[in-house]
Amino acid sequence: MRSALITGILGQDGQFLADLLIKKDYKVFGIINGQSQENSVRLLQDFPQIDLISGDLTDITSLIRAIEIAKPDEIYNLAAISFVGMSFAQPEHTANVTGLGALRLLEAVRICGIQESVKIYQASSSEMFGKVQQIPQNEKTSFYPRSPYGAAKAFAHHCCVNYREAYKMHISCGILFNHESEKRGIEFVTRKITNGVAKIKLGLASELRLGDLTPKRDWGFAGDYVDAMWRMLQQDEPSDFVIATGETHSVQEFVDLAFKYADLEGQQDKYVVKDERFMRPSEVDVLIGDSSKAKRDLNWSPKVNFNQLVERMVTKDIEFESSKLR
Ligand code: GDP
Repeated sequence: MRSALITGILGQDGQFLADLLIKKDYKVFGIINGQSQENSVRLLQDFPQIDLISGDLTDITSLIRAIEIAKPDEIYNLAAISFVGMSFAQPEHTANVTGLGALRLLEAVRICGIQESVKIYQASSSEMFGKVQQIPQNEKTSFYPRSPYGAAKAFAHHCCVNYREAYKMHISCGILFNHESEKRGIEFVTRKITNGVAKIKLGLASELRLGDLTPKRDWGFAGDYVDAMWRMLQQDEPSDFVIATGETHSVQEFVDLAFKYADLEGQQDKYVVKDERFMRPSEVDVLIGDSSKAKRDLNWSPKVNFNQLVERMVTKDIEFESSKLR
């Protein structure tokens, strides 16, 4: 039985990936930092076969211990301070976890002496492209991060490329564009919109407060994207891959569709309120990815399109909010 160790297992991607790996008959270990007790309990209810190990990307001794326990064939580094908005408020913490954390994990692997056998996935991010230097963005597009989060991810990415070359380690970086689902944190704009619309529909809220509606993102479905992570680690040679849908839509378009799928078509202007608190000091205006390399080498392509994604998230959030009323 192959063993996989996931950092960030309690996040959206961690949950989808754990599900996928269990279905593929892996023994799954997850590192948790002990603060999300409620989420751990929920995860173990869904997947009792997962082993959770206490640890943190800021504590290399805990990473070494986790590796010794899990003896992983594959490591997926999904843990991060992942919310761009928060990275402006806590830039040092973001650099420590999201940037240095990846480096610590690589060093922990070397200290444990498994660098020649283990395959590592690093969650790189389209936020590294920031003020985009090319449209669409591919694996060769230069980085121009626009937030502490983007800068920290770029540092981690460069470390992974360096360790791959310096120590011949099997490290692949997935440059994932935004990917969403009903498991997305409520602080991200997509889930904030679908949950807000669900509450409006059920009479539980009378407004939806948002920041800038003009930025455009290449939004895909998280369930499709974790499959790409796994495919990267099944390759003989490690590499970097852009994972994206190749379509871009504005926040406004997401809002419009969400109201439509909640049967509130055309009513968004009545409910959406602009709130300066959700504006950012510097913004990523447009992201659109070219994932032709992943299509060619991994035989990967997204299955859920933009409309299906919005419809799924609105439907799930209406179910979720209704269930709380019962
Ligand atoms: P990001 O691409 O990783 O920053 O993902 P987010 O979902 O946090 O933000 C996507 C875009 O939505 C960014 O350009 C935000 O500035 C914009 N946005 C507009 N209003 C909001 C809001 O109320 N919350 C969040 N999170 N983003 C917002």
